[in-house]
Amino acid sequence: MRELIPTAQAFSLITLLMALEVDALSRPELTGDWEFKLKEIERGNFDRESFMNEIRSMTDRIVTAAKAYDGDTVPGDYGKLETGCPKCGGLVKETYKRFHCEVDDCDFGFWKIMGGRQFELAEADELVANRRIGPLEGFRSKMGRAFSAELKLSDEHKVEFDFGNDDDDEEEVDFSEQESIGECPKCKGPVYEHGRTFVCEKNTGKDRKCSFRTGKVILKRDIEKEQVVKLLKEGKTDLIPNFISKRGRPFKAFLVLKSNGDVGFEFESKTKDKK
Ligand SMILES: [Zn+2]
Ligand SMILES: [Zn+2]
Repeated sequence: MRELIPTAQAFSLITLLMALEVDALSRPELTGDWEFKLKEIERGNFDRESFMNEIRSMTDRIVTAAKAYDGDTVPGDYGKLETGCPKCGGLVKETYKRFHCEVDDCDFGFWKIMGGRQFELAEADELVANRRIGPLEGFRSKMGRAFSAELKLSDEHKVEFDFGNDDDDEEEVDFSEQESIGECPKCKGPVYEHGRTFVCEKNTGKDRKCSFRTGKVILKRDIEKEQVVKLLKEGKTDLIPNFISKRGRPFKAFLVLKSNGDVGFEFESKTKDKK
């Protein structure tokens, strides 16, 4: 089946339409309904005029609602983070375009869309809780090139891309006391447990020759060391339950090594289809 992947901008538009209570347009069933009616028109069971009238009156409603609407605080069904504000401990709420602390004299907040990609609620939570997240996929550069990246909260609590050239991260790490958990899928170097991540030895210190790293927490799910060992050895983990994704729903997935050595998700049904 063909899968449609809505862009972050499309989600914003849907939010706006929902805020304007133009629910008809933001429901996927609608297009199904339209397709059905178009077929009925072909069969002569439904007349073209009534169909066009329906569309016309809906368009009118949207235009009227959009015109009446002003400002950039679009009301909607927004979430809030479980993790408190890193500055003041206040409640961090989602709005149309931002996550921000609701405390009046606190200025903590960040854009929902960064690099053409929108944070899921669970991702925003993970970012604030761990002060970093990623690598996340699906960013787009201004030139339209896709990239994945880690994000972090800076010391000033600003959300920033982290391309791994942090000062405090530049210290050489001594792994001599540690046993490697496996071989780096990118450069065959040894991978070690380090802080909140499992990282290739060549992705530490000043002179980095590799970019391999995977988080100990992915979408709110602790990733056991045994699973990372299996991932590095066999290219795939066991089916891991309880990742928390879009709108806070749990889902199961395998973590897999992609051809470029990055870690990605693979879903159960997809595996079955392949066979
Ligand atoms: Zn705050
Ligand atoms: Zn490596």
